[in-house]
Amino acid sequence: MEHQRQRMVQTQLEKRGIRNHAVLQAMGAVPRHQFVPEELQAHSYEDRALPLAEGQTISQPFIVALMAEALMLHGTERVLEIGTGSGYSAAVLSLLAAEVYTIERLEKLARASEERLAALGFSNVHVVVRDGTGGLPEHAPYDAICVTAASPWVPLPLRQQLAEGGRLVIPVGGRSEQILLRLTRRNDAIVTERFGGVRFVPLLGEHAWKYDA
Ligand code: SAH
Repeated sequence: MEHQRQRMVQTQLEKRGIRNHAVLQAMGAVPRHQFVPEELQAHSYEDRALPLAEGQTISQPFIVALMAEALMLHGTERVLEIGTGSGYSAAVLSLLAAEVYTIERLEKLARASEERLAALGFSNVHVVVRDGTGGLPEHAPYDAICVTAASPWVPLPLRQQLAEGGRLVIPVGGRSEQILLRLTRRNDAIVTERFGGVRFVPLLGEHAWKYDA
């Protein structure tokens, strides 16, 4: 698995332009196979998303790395993630920042991921069960916010919970395809950049899609 993981870093990430050293190191360190359902573990380091319980998915390694790089973390930040899923991307982010708060709306997934993260020693990740489209005001503002589910627009509470200079990375678009955006707060203005096409499962909640179509 270790060998497969290092090959993944070289062939799927470095070759495609992921340059941030800390991101490459984190992707090389987190045991992705521990976050994947047992029957799919042999596929853990392939260049693809994989199914999780409850119809959700663990993102393709390249997308996890791309989002982590776009957040421009230095190790001191407080990060909010929406969409815990397996806890894999939260684990990657936890190696790049000081604290990670990750929100999942499905209680079963959240509890399983919380246990897994604790067992693997990712002690600076805090899992919260609720609708993440409202963010997590009690620990705001955040230096970085990462949304790992697709949204029809940028939920207003997330924008409001960004610190000055903070970055919000989110896939925005339709149900079947989206564009990955980075919003940066600068002196009360928001600068938006585009990072190309992606496909995520839907963000369901009060400030995104209201039901699963
Ligand atoms: N980052 C995850 C993959 C997430 S898939 C990983 O590394 O495994 C997207 C997740 O977002 C799903 O688990 C889904 O249940 C969750 N989700 C969807 N809408 C949500 C919402 N409003 N609040 C919190 N989580 C949500």
